[in-house]
Amino acid sequence: MTAARLTIDLDAIAANWQRLSRLCRSETGATVKADAYGLGAARVARRLADAGARTFFVALAEEGAVIRQAVGSGPRIFVYSGHMAGDTQTLRNLDLIPLVNSADQLVRHLESLPRHPFGVQLDSGMNRLGMEAAEWAAVRDLAVAADPKLVMSHLACADDPEHLFNAQQMDNFLDMTAGYAGDRSLAATGGILLSPEYHFDISRPGIGLYGGAPFDDATPVVTLSLPVIQTREVEAGEVVGYGCTWVAERPSRIATVAAGYADGLLRALSNRAMLYAGETACPVVGRVSMDLITVDVTDLEVVPEELEILGAPQGIDMVADAAETIGYEILTSLGGRYKRRYQSRLA
Ligand SMILES: *Cc1c(COP(=O)(O)O)cnc(C)c1O
Repeated sequence: MTAARLTIDLDAIAANWQRLSRLCRSETGATVKADAYGLGAARVARRLADAGARTFFVALAEEGAVIRQAVGSGPRIFVYSGHMAGDTQTLRNLDLIPLVNSADQLVRHLESLPRHPFGVQLDSGMNRLGMEAAEWAAVRDLAVAADPKLVMSHLACADDPEHLFNAQQMDNFLDMTAGYAGDRSLAATGGILLSPEYHFDISRPGIGLYGGAPFDDATPVVTLSLPVIQTREVEAGEVVGYGCTWVAERPSRIATVAAGYADGLLRALSNRAMLYAGETACPVVGRVSMDLITVDVTDLEVVPEELEILGAPQGIDMVADAAETIGYEILTSLGGRYKRRYQSRLA
């Protein structure tokens, strides 16, 4: 058994969804874009559907194919990128609901799929995706006459409850949707945690389902164990790894484990991250290479067969901090070489 093992706890994902659902009086959807943040969209969506999720969100129409196959014809699947040129057949055949982002997309949708459901994405200030106020004002009557299933926008700073931009985006969203009686959505994970007024009719959590900040009460979802290939003794003054960036200050025992930046364990973790033997932290020493990481295990009495980089003592956000990034990037970087195991009480 040489491959590193990535264990994904589907029941923890379901529990996180349920916990977020209980915070919302309105419907709680699930964002499963980017292969469910790298964890396996089909397995994740099926488990969430079993837990009661009825509405899924993906980034691209193509991603909807996997979800539709996994959850069958009942649940709704919204597409954040909207109705792009070339999407028409996919949207129709898979019964996906585009969130149109512009007047052009709205017209494309109404002309190519006149009775097919759609939603509208508004820009409330983030300036990334969605119609701005003036564009929306120009097409609002046309759009509303065609009965959108959802009007939504996205918050730029919801992970920071103190940020004044949250209230500003809320005001803009309320202005743009004033008098609109259909369903609205503004909150992803951060928005759910801000306050109930952000919840509207449906929320769209992603990272919280997968155990990441800002959902501090989340149950951890991933465990990643890296097999030790070799251990060696080095003298004080000897170096380890590319570029000789680590020099032993004492006689040390170094373990080399089988995973590296090609597996999504970012090179920025060099000389910064920890691997764990049970509860004991062992520092990464030297540069992370493509397929290998070197670890100082001098203080262990026994070197185990595997060391853990993600698990109970160290979650995705701690690893992210060490690499100066966010848990989202750690998850979506996890590579294709791991032996993946899914845990679930359900079949
Ligand atoms: C990715 C995304 C979400 C989910 O955000 P999280 O922070 O992961 O909960 C929701 N809405 C939109 C528009 C997104 O792009």
